[in-house]
Amino acid sequence: MTSHEPPRDCGDQQAAAARTPAVAEGGDSACWLHRVCPHCDAVADEDPPTTCPRCSRPITG
Ligand SMILES: [Zn+2]
Repeated sequence: MTSHEPPRDCGDQQAAAARTPAVAEGGDSACWLHRVCPHCDAVADEDPPTTCPRCSRPITG
């Protein structure tokens, strides 16, 4: 078991991957359908349960 291995940049590579969107534009639209407000059809910025950014009503998914 050696102790002379050079430092690796795995951390930077993982950070770059985390910044890359997992779903490209035009991906599966079904993934955000549960975010659509049932009251005004606005799309929330996060998964339910959350609050509609337009009408402020709760979105339960
Ligand atoms: Zn709404």
